[in-house]
Amino acid sequence: MAHSPLHRVAVYTGVFDPVHFGHLDVIQRGSRLFERLVVGVGINPDKKSFFTLDERVQLVRDVTASIANVEVRPFADLAVRFVREAGARIMLRGLRTLSDMENEFSMSLTNSTLDPEIETVFLMASEVYSHLSSTLIRQIAALHGELDKFVPPKIKSAMIQRLQQHPDTG
Ligand code: ADP
Repeated sequence: MAHSPLHRVAVYTGVFDPVHFGHLDVIQRGSRLFERLVVGVGINPDKKSFFTLDERVQLVRDVTASIANVEVRPFADLAVRFVREAGARIMLRGLRTLSDMENEFSMSLTNSTLDPEIETVFLMASEVYSHLSSTLIRQIAALHGELDKFVPPKIKSAMIQRLQQHPDTG
């Protein structure tokens, strides 16, 4: 069966505050599965972010620069609309734990109610990264813990710099 060009593009959305090795693992694996992977950096309306949207977009661009078929864009719209605008019909998500399942399951059902043509594809987190979350990493950074195992050097230095400028961030 020939695949339409729409099925060669996938969109991976997240807040990426900050982007960490778990996200990068999904991005790398997704970039091997699809011809093009668009990473959508979004906003969480419920909480104040550590990095601004522009900073998060730039940081994700910096750490994915070596992957030729990955493109990083900001978005503030409904995720399903962003997926369509990117010329895709596939949403890529990462699944860490059973507790992720519940959330991701309802999000995926809601998205397919909003736009039945959009399919969500899940990648199971690699074992080594399955405990990682941006929330934990922000907490470790605020307490001056070791970040090398969780984020690339570029993200580590950006976090340290932010905490030096604004110690109340976190
Ligand atoms: P976080 O929960 O880390 O703040 P995001 O909103 O930025 O996450 O997550 C974007 C996507 O990445 C979601 O599909 C989420 O399940 C997935 N993800 C987050 N952390 C990991 C990880 N350690 N391994 C695999 N996928 C992950």
